Amino acid sequence: MTALRLAIVGFGKIARDQHVPAISATSGVSLAAIASRNASLPDIPHFATLEDLLRDGPPVDAVALCTPPQVRRSQAAVALAAGKHVMLEKPPGASVSELDPLIAAASGAGRTLFATWHSRFAPAVEPARSWLAARRILSAHISWKEDVRVWHPGQAWIWQPGGLGVFDPGINALSILTRILPHQVFVTAAELCFPANREAPIAANLALSDAAGLPITAEFDFRQTGPQSWDIVAETDQGRITLSGGGRRLAVDGKVLADAPESEYRGLYRRFVELSATGASDVDLAPLRLVADAFMLGKRRIVEAFED
Ligand code: NAP
Repeated sequence: MTALRLAIVGFGKIARDQHVPAISATSGVSLAAIASRNASLPDIPHFATLEDLLRDGPPVDAVALCTPPQVRRSQAAVALAAGKHVMLEKPPGASVSELDPLIAAASGAGRTLFATWHSRFAPAVEPARSWLAARRILSAHISWKEDVRVWHPGQAWIWQPGGLGVFDPGINALSILTRILPHQVFVTAAELCFPANREAPIAANLALSDAAGLPITAEFDFRQTGPQSWDIVAETDQGRITLSGGGRRLAVDGKVLADAPESEYRGLYRRFVELSATGASDVDLAPLRLVADAFMLGKRRIVEAFED
């Protein structure tokens, strides 16, 4: 099988930190080019835009869109129209409805559209799903609190409409929740805290449930200093399950059942190679719909202005 020739579009933090090493470590895919207005890598053909790359660049089979969500839809449309397979960073879009034409375009062209949820590839997520499948869940709580200055320094887009603010990391928790719970969940209430000088929330509290009335709460906060938390805890009829470290560790009543180094992006690229072999798509919008519903239902509180 010849390797998928892939171009990264938007060469920022996640492209450097995760995509490049994961591509190098995954058989069946190779980095053929970069399209990014400012950033480049030595020895890799570079173009300022995706359009320049498609017109003047080396042949590519696929693109990984690592740009902010607000600009990804139009890039995905261009890439699919050019017959390329498309990997979308999370969140898959700046709105839910903009994904429909992309799904249709991928299907019409017989090309892969892969809406990635990297946290679902964390090592303890599937063990948690299996463990929960055999128990009665009584309640669940998400605590996802990180320091935006550490993890998103100078990323202006995150504070703009479509950037999602604290839901940029929070949607990772929701991607895990919607994977490990056996039933579909929905938002019942939300409180969103907007800094006085920003257009996206810096913190949010959510209540969620399922058709059987399962109580679920979620706390997202970008103002966390000191220890960071990326934890989901569920009470069940057979003990308390704790998924911590963003899905890396699993414990039941304090006994560790899984604890492994993360290799989320290698998992994503293995899946992308597999999907693109047949042109199949994988687009699950459940986490994005929950965030959209939180914005629809959310009470808005104005809090202290935020400066980077
Ligand atoms: P980033 O560091 O800001 O990188 C995005 C890159 O896209 C920028 O460096 C910029 O490169 C390009 N870009 C920015 N605005 C653009 C525009 N208007 N038009 C075209 N290109 C533009 O952001 P990131 O942290 O890598 O995040 C990108 C996506 O990955 C987000 O959706 C995020 O949720 C997701 N993600 C991030 C992380 C993380 O830890 N950072 C983890 C997982 C997923 P040029 O200036 O060179 O064009």
